[in-house]
Amino acid sequence: MMKRLTALLLALLLALSLCACKPEGDYGFSEPEWMTDAPPESETQQTDVPTPSVPEPTVEEYITGIISAEYTEPKNVILIIGDGMGINDLVIAEKYSDGLYDFGLVMNKITNKGLVTTGALDNAVTDSAASGTALSTGTKTNLGYIGKAADGTDLEVLAEFARKSNKKIGIVTDDELFGATPASFVTHNISRYNYGELAMGMLNFAPEVMIGSSYDNYFNNLTEEGKTALNEKYAIAQSLADFETVSTDSTANGKYFAGFNGGCTTGVSEHLAISAKTALSLLENENGFFLMIEGCGTDVFGHSNTIDGKKSGVLNLDKTVEAVLAFMQSHPDTLLIITSDHETGGVSLPEEGKEPDASVFTATTHTAAEVRVFAVGKGSEYFSDKTVDNTEIATFIKNALTEKTAETE
Ligand SMILES: [Zn+2]
Repeated sequence: MMKRLTALLLALLLALSLCACKPEGDYGFSEPEWMTDAPPESETQQTDVPTPSVPEPTVEEYITGIISAEYTEPKNVILIIGDGMGINDLVIAEKYSDGLYDFGLVMNKITNKGLVTTGALDNAVTDSAASGTALSTGTKTNLGYIGKAADGTDLEVLAEFARKSNKKIGIVTDDELFGATPASFVTHNISRYNYGELAMGMLNFAPEVMIGSSYDNYFNNLTEEGKTALNEKYAIAQSLADFETVSTDSTANGKYFAGFNGGCTTGVSEHLAISAKTALSLLENENGFFLMIEGCGTDVFGHSNTIDGKKSGVLNLDKTVEAVLAFMQSHPDTLLIITSDHETGGVSLPEEGKEPDASVFTATTHTAAEVRVFAVGKGSEYFSDKTVDNTEIATFIKNALTEKTAETE
């Protein structure tokens, strides 16, 4: 009986993963994978097409189905960070953006959500280094410190922690890989501005997958030995199209580096979502993985008080969340946490009846405002309707990664 059930379940999963396939090389704007076989809600019925006997789920039903699905002990942990993404960013993006689903942001469908305090050890308003380190190590530190305690000693960062359990490591950002947020999960430095040392530190650790905004910037920050090592250790792609070839290169030794010369732009783009999807396909393995994904638009355009950039920063992250949820549909042994390292721009809401513009910004800096945390997967109700400190997120992730490895196979 159990065997038959398992076989049935496997067949169902296979069918689902097959019908979720997207045509290769399609990197344009697209419907979610799961909608390629289902008509969008708005599509009017053609008279000569027979009405299907089984109604297709709407995107909303599909997404809420994944979010509320039954999850098992996490083998894979995915942490998505909207750099500088405040609570009002989410409100504005949902209320005033074109191209959203009629139910709004995918993120806002996640039921297990709470608030996060973000302060640094030496300052109420944090930066991405101190907050990245808190999210990565569970320890508060000073502004500018990467993976280091206030006394200058190294803290164990999440990439190091996860590798002890034979997890593969992925770092994905639409900003520089040696930026404070990604660096805080992999390496250690007394200053977030020691770009060369950060790039070298990350290369020495060598996550299985690194995807960032620029190959050239990364390469040029390396020492001569580092430049050689990067080319020796990694299969390298310098464009998204390249990456499709490189990511299927069987001689790649299991390490993939991609720099797309993208960076933070104001436009809506699936760049980050596609990067995340590619990373997931490369990281999937029987021991599991830890993947950190950073979206930069919500910070960069908070500093510059550019409302369109703020909104597209949220939308690009939301597309990424959607891609990760699609992965989780067939991988219930995955935990997803979405949060922010701090708020940027002191964003307020526009007057009722007015469109948001530069006047919603009250600062060009970070603020001490609390940020959101959303979680999907086993145990994620932990974050529901309460306020946690950013250090607790690291502790939660470490516990999740530990529980799985304590199990005997
Ligand atoms: Zn910033």
